[in-house]
Amino acid sequence: MIVAIDGPSGAGKSTVAKAVAKKLGFSCLDTGAMYRSVAWLAVQKGVALDDDAALGELAGACRIEFVHEEGDPIPKGVFVDGNDVTAAIRTADIDRAVSPVSAAPSVREAMVGQQRRIGEAGDYVIEGRDIGTTVFPGAEVKVFLTASDEERAHRRVRQNVDRGIGSIDYDEVLEDLKRRDEHDSSRSTSPLRPADDAVRLDSTGLYIEDVIDEICAMAQRKGA
Ligand code: C5P
Repeated sequence: MIVAIDGPSGAGKSTVAKAVAKKLGFSCLDTGAMYRSVAWLAVQKGVALDDDAALGELAGACRIEFVHEEGDPIPKGVFVDGNDVTAAIRTADIDRAVSPVSAAPSVREAMVGQQRRIGEAGDYVIEGRDIGTTVFPGAEVKVFLTASDEERAHRRVRQNVDRGIGSIDYDEVLEDLKRRDEHDSSRSTSPLRPADDAVRLDSTGLYIEDVIDEICAMAQRKGA
């Protein structure tokens, strides 16, 4: 079974996806980490962020691996071509580089192929922007998770403080979220938008536990 959780930056997708996967006993795939890994490689190699052909070559050839602790289906880190990029892909530089990189059609083609191969191998909760529309349009559960801009920025600042990575300046974070939403929603290939059959959940003012329980209940109604 596939549980697709899409939505804008900072809506709480990661927290919710991990908790839902744990409760259901599913694996969990963070597709944003894959686009961030390609953006990291592009920055490292000095590839222009608007060079579709060169970006596509990078995305097609790179090896993205999620590492797990024994017995834990939730990944603890990400490696790209053998480099531990777990922290490096969460910096403000990569926040800026990832939107143009993820808009490149050749990058999307390579990532969508990898995501389908991973998801077809078992029961997965997959979070991203285009999982319900493009990657797994037949997903049994589709959720489009949103929250107000201000709530998303507050949450992202708290997350960055906890992780010790990324900006902790509220205005800078709010600005970045708005810029990425605009970029992700207006690109021509797989723009950020809810699938027609997605359940829309606005988590503003809700307890995250209630959102998690609601998605688990949807999956259970489908036989999870
Ligand atoms: O989820 P996260 O904020 O880490 O994603 C980083 C960026 O990766 C997004 O702003 C978006 O540009 C891109 N992305 C995407 N499609 C996905 C997941 C992420 O374009 N399925």
